[in-house]
Amino acid sequence: MAPKAEKIQKTDEQWRQELTPEQYRVLREAGTERAFTGELWDVHDDGVYRCAGCGAELFGSDAKFDSGTGWPSFFEPADDDAVETARDWKMVIPRTEVRCSRCGGHLGHVFNDGPNPTGKRYCINSCALQLDKS
Ligand code: FE
Repeated sequence: MAPKAEKIQKTDEQWRQELTPEQYRVLREAGTERAFTGELWDVHDDGVYRCAGCGAELFGSDAKFDSGTGWPSFFEPADDDAVETARDWKMVIPRTEVRCSRCGGHLGHVFNDGPNPTGKRYCINSCALQLDKS
């Protein structure tokens, strides 16, 4: 795997120019797209899922599984360093937020009810991802 790229920092104005309004709302404001509305939750192609904000490699299609939630779901990131997590207290039961390590963009949340081999379920917004088909 290639060495980790530098962290990416852009101004709010730059993000607003580069992202669609929905991507901005999710990636920069920690929003959540409506379930079953994204483009990637039901996609089964082989490839690499990249951050829609910065292009960093986040998840591999081999870790994608059908969670039934309406969001793309993965049991592990492409690399241990690809994503960062943080406690999210916005709901009564705290959740663990998942962010892109390179640009800090909000991707979704990770839960402990995933399948083998990790038991993790990375529940990720479609619009925060771009699929590079292989
Ligand atoms: Fe990113």
